[in-house]
Amino acid sequence: MRFCPQCGGFMVPARREQDKILFRCMRCGYSEEVSVSESADYTIVGATPKEERTITTLKVSEAKKRPPKTLEEWEQEREEYREILHELLQEELEGVEE
Ligand SMILES: [Zn+2]
Repeated sequence: MRFCPQCGGFMVPARREQDKILFRCMRCGYSEEVSVSESADYTIVGATPKEERTITTLKVSEAKKRPPKTLEEWEQEREEYREILHELLQEELEGVEE
């Protein structure tokens, strides 16, 4: 898990490029690019089933083309992050139990 160097908030993967992941702070919006190899603690992302991965990729490429976000869109995205985060945490917990 990554934490914001600015405010200590929780950082979630906001955008994924070929060899980089953009993490964004959920509290202050600070963002940081991390190469995939450096973010090895986030291998869970790569471990998602193929179908889910495709959907995520589609969403990401759509988001890229979009104009700057409105407040409403931000709120919506934050909800999405929360869901993703929840899934990630669950997968991690399940992994630990093994
Ligand atoms: Zn922050």
